[in-house]
Amino acid sequence: GKRLTIGLIPADGIGREVIPAARQVLEALPSSVLAARVGFVDLDAGFEYFQKHGEALPEETLAALKSDCDGALFGAVSSPSHKVAGYSSPIVGLRKKLDLYANVRPVVSGAAATASGARRAIDMLIIRENTECLYVKDEQQHEGPDGKYALAKRRISERASRRAGEMAFAMALQRDGMRRLMDDADRTWKGRPKVTIVHKSNVLSVTDGLWRETVRGVHTGNAAYRDGVDVEEQLVDSMVYRMFREPEAFDVVVAPNMYGDIISDGAAALVGSLGLVPSANVGDNFVVGEPVHGSAPDIAGRNIANPIAAIRSAAMLLERTGHAAAALAIYRAVDCVLAAGNVRTPDLGGSSRTSEVADEVCKHL
Ligand code: NAD
Ligand code: MN
Repeated sequence: GKRLTIGLIPADGIGREVIPAARQVLEALPSSVLAARVGFVDLDAGFEYFQKHGEALPEETLAALKSDCDGALFGAVSSPSHKVAGYSSPIVGLRKKLDLYANVRPVVSGAAATASGARRAIDMLIIRENTECLYVKDEQQHEGPDGKYALAKRRISERASRRAGEMAFAMALQRDGMRRLMDDADRTWKGRPKVTIVHKSNVLSVTDGLWRETVRGVHTGNAAYRDGVDVEEQLVDSMVYRMFREPEAFDVVVAPNMYGDIISDGAAALVGSLGLVPSANVGDNFVVGEPVHGSAPDIAGRNIANPIAAIRSAAMLLERTGHAAAALAIYRAVDCVLAAGNVRTPDLGGSSRTSEVADEVCKHL
C-alpha cells in the first residue's frame, strides 16, 4: 500500500519530549482512518547538536528531508540570546532552504479549550510570512563618534508578500467551506470570510507599504477573493490591543514574519497555553509541522511539557499531505481530552505528564 515517510527533528529542550509524543499518536492511528503505512526518519539539528558538531542544520538532514521524506515534524531549538560564532537557527534556515514560505497558525478555543482557561471564543488563523522581514538576519555593528551602533536589514519583497497573501485569501475561502459543513452551534465565526492585513505602514511606509499594497493587490486581482472575502487592515500595535479585547473579531490574519511571530504567542495566551498552538510551515513542495512554542528550558527534561501543540502539528502535517481523515481523528481526540479535563499538563492547571497526555489522546483516536 501507500507509504508516508515523516522526518522527525526533535532538536532541543522540550522538542525531545513533545516530538516522541506526537510520533506515538501517529503510530496509534488505526488503519481505518490512515490508509498509508507511516515510517519515520530520525534527523539531527539544533543548538546542542551545534555544540557537539559545529553545525546546527547538518547537510545530511536537509538531504534526507528532500530525498526520503514526504514531510517533517520539527520540535524546538534553543537559540542563545547572544551571538555565537558560526551558529544560525536551524528552523529559520530550514524555512528558507525548503522555501516554506507561509507559516499557518490556527489559534482556536472552541468548547474544549474554553474549559482549559480561555474565556472567549477564538477561531483565528494567523498566516505568517516565513522567509524574510528582519529574519534575513543581515545585521552589522559599527563604531561611530558617539559609540557603537547596529543596523539590521529588513527585506520585504513583492513575491513573498504575494505568496503569503494568496495563502491567506485561499485559506479564508477554504475555512468558510469547512464551516458550512459544521453545525451552527460549533461555528465561532458567523460572518463572511475576512482577512486582516497587519502592518505598520504609517511609520514604515516603504517596507510595510509594499507589503500592504501587494497583499491588497492579491485581493483586488482575484474575482473569487473580491466576491467572497472581506479585507480590513490593522496597524500591528492596535492589532495586539484589539486581539486582547475582542479576539472573536478575527478570522484570517496575515502578517510579515516578525509581527506574525509576536502576534501568535499573544494569541496563544488567549486560548490558555503556548502548549496548545500548532503550526505548519508550508511551501509548494514540502511541509514541516512545528509547535509555535520554543524549547522551554524552564521546564525541559521533566516530562511535563504539553504535547498537544506538537500532536496538532502532526495532524496539520497529515492534513497537508492528503490524509484529512486521519488529521480529523487527531483533532477530535485532542478536543475530547481537553474537554474531559482530567488529564492535563501543569500549564493548563493539571498535574499530568507529557506521556500521560499522549496516552490519553491515543485512547480517543
Ligand atoms: P518558549 O516558547 O520556549 O517558552 C515560553 C513559556 O511558555 C515558558 O514559560 C515555557 O515553559 C512555556 N511553554 C512553552 N511551550 C510549552 C509547552 N509545550 N508546555 C508547557 N509550557 C510551555 O519561549 P522562550 O522561553 O522565550 O524561549 C526558549 C528558547 O526557545 C530560546 O532559546 C528561543 O530561542 C527558543 N525558541 C525556539 C523556537 C523554535 O524552535 N521555533 C521558537 C521560540 C523560541
Ligand atoms: Mn515564535
